[in-house]
Amino acid sequence: MNAYYLETKYIISGSKCDKLIRDGAILIEDSVIIDVGKSEDIKKLISGHDKIKRTNHIAIPSFINAHTHLPETLLRGICDNQTLMTWLNEYIWPFEMKMSSEDAYYGALLGCLELIESGSSGFIDQYFYAESIEKAAKEANIRALLCPSVFDNTPESGSLENTWKHVSNLVKRKTSNPNSLVKYGIGPHAPYTVPKEYLLQIADVASKHNAPIHIHLNETKQEIENAKEQFKMSPIQYIHSIGLTDLRILGAHCVHTDQKDMEIMKACDFTVLHNPQSNLKMANGIAPIYKYLDQRIDVAVGTDGNASNNDLGMLEEISTAALLQKYLADDPKVINNSQILSVGTIQGMKALGEPSSGISKGSVADITLLSYERSHSWPQNDPLSNVIYSSLSSDVSDLFVNGNLIYENRQHRTLNKNRIIEKCSAISERIISEMGK
Ligand SMILES: [Zn+2]
Repeated sequence: MNAYYLETKYIISGSKCDKLIRDGAILIEDSVIIDVGKSEDIKKLISGHDKIKRTNHIAIPSFINAHTHLPETLLRGICDNQTLMTWLNEYIWPFEMKMSSEDAYYGALLGCLELIESGSSGFIDQYFYAESIEKAAKEANIRALLCPSVFDNTPESGSLENTWKHVSNLVKRKTSNPNSLVKYGIGPHAPYTVPKEYLLQIADVASKHNAPIHIHLNETKQEIENAKEQFKMSPIQYIHSIGLTDLRILGAHCVHTDQKDMEIMKACDFTVLHNPQSNLKMANGIAPIYKYLDQRIDVAVGTDGNASNNDLGMLEEISTAALLQKYLADDPKVINNSQILSVGTIQGMKALGEPSSGISKGSVADITLLSYERSHSWPQNDPLSNVIYSSLSSDVSDLFVNGNLIYENRQHRTLNKNRIIEKCSAISERIISEMGK
C-alpha cells in the first residue's frame, strides 16, 4: 500500500480550488487523500508514511488533458501554417495511413511522457489503435478514457464498416472493468464523417455498456454551414434530433453555438471539451466557455492532438483559455483563477468518469507539484495567480496518480524516456521519408 506524508510550501485545496494552505501537508494512503492541512497538524498523524518534503513548491490537483489524439506526438511540427483541408489531405492523413500499431504505441508513450512532465494525471483520447494507447497508458500508470475513433479509411481497420465492427467488439470487451485506470468510451469522429445509421448503432452500444460518446462538434463555421445544408440544423441539434444526447456526450470544441445548441447542452449530460490553442492555430475561433459556465454546462480543457497544438501542456492551455474569455466577453472579470484551475483539473476528472474534489480529505490522490526554482515564480504575492499566469509546464517537478508517485524530482519512475524519444524520432523520420516529404 502507498503511504505518503507530503509537505509543501503551498497547497491549492478545496473542491473549487479556492482554498490556499501555507506550510501545508497532505497525507496519502493507497489511492486516497486521508487528510490535508497545516503541516504542524498533519505531522501528528504520521505512522510509517514515506516522508516527502518539497519546501519550495506548490501542490495543485493534477490536470486532465480532456481532448487528445495521443499518437499524434509523432506528427509534431510536420505542418504548421496551412488551411484545414491542406493540413488534413497532404500531411495528417497520409502520415497516419503509414502508422502501424507499434508506431502508435511508441507515439502514445511519448505522449504519456509529455503528459506526466506537464502535470497531467490522465487524458481523454479519440484515435485508432486504442489498444496500443491502452498499453502505453498502463505502462505509464496514468489515467485514460480511450474512445476509439469511428471513421472511414483508418490505418487500423480500413473501411467504416470494419472500423465499427472492431470498435464495437473492443468496447463490449473493455467496458467490463470500470475500476481500471483505463476506461473506454466510443469516438465517432464527427457528424459530418459518420453517417446516421452508424451513429444510431453507436448510441445503442454506448447505452448498453454505459460508455460515453466523444465526438467533434461545431468546430468550424464551414462545418455549421454544411450541416445546415445537409441536416437543416447545427451538428449539436442534429445529434440531439437522432437521440444521441440521451447518452453522456463529450463534445470536443463547440466553438460556434447558438442559443438552441446551448439549451440542448444544458438539458443533456453534455461536457464541452475546450481546446483554445488548437482552435486559434487552425483559425477556427474562440468557444464561449464563459457563457457555458454561466449556464452550468460542464466544461473541461484539452490541448487537442500534437499535430494541431503542438504540445500537451495544460498550464499554458488554461491560461490561454482564461485570457481568451476576457477578450471575448470584453470583461476581465468574466472568469477567475479558481474557476479556470477547476475546469482544467477537477472538471476534467469528472469528464473522465472519476469524481474528484481536488486536494481535499477523502478525494482521490492525483496531485501535481510545481517547483519555485525559476525567477518567474517570485514573489509569491498570490500563489494561485502565479499558477495560472506565470507558471510553465516545465515547472512541474512531481506527479502522483491515484496515490502512486510516478514522477519524482523530474525523474520518470514508470517510463524509459531516452528509449522512447529515440524510437519515436526514428519512426517519424521513416514515415516522413515514405511520404516523400
Ligand atoms: Zn480533435
